[in-house]
Amino acid sequence: MGIRRINMAVGMFATAINCIDGRAQRPVSEWMRIQYSVDFVDTITHPGPEKTLTQGPQATIDTMRANVDVSVSAHESQLVAIAAHHGCAGNPVSDEEHQAQVRAACQVVAGWGLPVRVIGLWVNEWWQVALIADLAEGSQQSR
Ligand SMILES: [Zn+2]
Repeated sequence: MGIRRINMAVGMFATAINCIDGRAQRPVSEWMRIQYSVDFVDTITHPGPEKTLTQGPQATIDTMRANVDVSVSAHESQLVAIAAHHGCAGNPVSDEEHQAQVRAACQVVAGWGLPVRVIGLWVNEWWQVALIADLAEGSQQSR
């Protein structure tokens, strides 16, 4: 699953870039813990992060990237998820547009060149999580 290193002292971490919406965070965190056998999910929140990652502003993207860097370097996270959800107040677009933005945001994050697998997640109206993009480490396309 792309998870190789184990920090025995503190457990295994993954990273989620998720909406500030509290309803979306627990399902994403729990889904990632189960699917990828990690103990903890560091969560970087921003309203509608899939929109920001694809449309800016760049300063906000840079802040999100700095936060991801902490999770990857300090906690040795090897998995970064970008999650979007139905009914998002921070990014009121159609479900299809959310999902297109998530896939594009995955390419942005993969382009940061971190030693991680990048996945895209969609949280539907029943707070169920689906994998909609999966970029294995080293598979990022040049933009
Ligand atoms: Zn939201």
